[in-house]
Amino acid sequence: MTRSELIELLSIDDPKALQRLFARTQVVQSSVVGTKVFLRGLIEYSNRCRKNCYYCGIRGGNRRVGRYELTDGEVLQAVDFAWRNRYGSIVLQSGERQSARFVSRIARLLRQIKEHTHGEVGITLSCGEQPDEVYRQWFEAGAHRYLLRIETASPALYARLHPATPAHDFDARITALHQLKAIGYRTGTGVMIGLPFQTPGDLADDLLFFRRMDVAMVGMGPYLEHRDTPLYRYKDRLLPPAQRLTLALKMVAALRLLMPHINIAATTALQALHPTGREQALQAGANVFMPNLTPVEYRASYRLYDSKPCLHESPGLCMDCTACRIRLAGNEIGYGEWGDR
Ligand code: SAH
Ligand code: SF4
Repeated sequence: MTRSELIELLSIDDPKALQRLFARTQVVQSSVVGTKVFLRGLIEYSNRCRKNCYYCGIRGGNRRVGRYELTDGEVLQAVDFAWRNRYGSIVLQSGERQSARFVSRIARLLRQIKEHTHGEVGITLSCGEQPDEVYRQWFEAGAHRYLLRIETASPALYARLHPATPAHDFDARITALHQLKAIGYRTGTGVMIGLPFQTPGDLADDLLFFRRMDVAMVGMGPYLEHRDTPLYRYKDRLLPPAQRLTLALKMVAALRLLMPHINIAATTALQALHPTGREQALQAGANVFMPNLTPVEYRASYRLYDSKPCLHESPGLCMDCTACRIRLAGNEIGYGEWGDR
């Protein structure tokens, strides 16, 4: 598909045409990747962050957030839950931190997780930009996937979403993605959809960026406002929730057509826009679901955006709810599978 074809697809708004689009992606999905949905249990490890992305509620400069870091015991308990319930993988996500203590704690946790689950649980890291040697150390300790969103493939838009400091450099983020791939990680990236100043052309470029980078997985979801962030003052420019959700679903569908084989996540932010947002994404072409395994008492502190869902559901409830949601969407769960393509 060309850039202009993608822009055309993203501008579909007739409900019948949309249904036809999703029916088409369903056919591609079931014939290429099947109807299985893979589970990645999400552990929000720490909300401490050295960065100040203008959109994010846990940015380092936000003094209103109580900061936390899970203990090893809390992480391992969440991992144990995932393992016993035959989630194929977990994701360890965190604000970006680069201290030697943080780096070695993550490495130690990776080894403990591997040992505890006899190497059965696949581990994805999502801990931001790190020096090449840190990525290597974590890979050797057992992580085999890494998720680092480019946020937007447009350097100009990237510059409007981040402070102009070396820690928030677009080219450095691209370099990090190349490093992760070269080390051997199954590398995932993604973007936010419906950002202020973002155009349909930017979104088409995001899709083409995923293809150019030849990534193994993509996690993309709607941008959602957070009142304690600099970007909040543009909230009146945003698409209304229903339209933002539809745009995100069209992005999922377009990506399934563009890269039929990859893993696409039905992200939590979709559910913030509509109670069945994630199921709708499964029907538009997504095949990965990330149930939240963070201990309930920390969930509200890992609030990237105001309307974060599932703040109070325990992992057990989340699991039952996930299984129902996936079946309702007409899919089956790939229990115990890593689900790599
Ligand atoms: N610190 C790491 C991982 C945690 S943030 C990193 O930045 O890579 C994970 C993702 O949350 C970010 O990549 C971003 O795309 C998303 N995010 C942050 N704030 C958001 C918001 N207000 N709305 C939607 N997604 C947001
Ligand atoms: Fe930190 Fe990630 Fe939020 Fe940026 S998006 S402020 S790096 S947690």
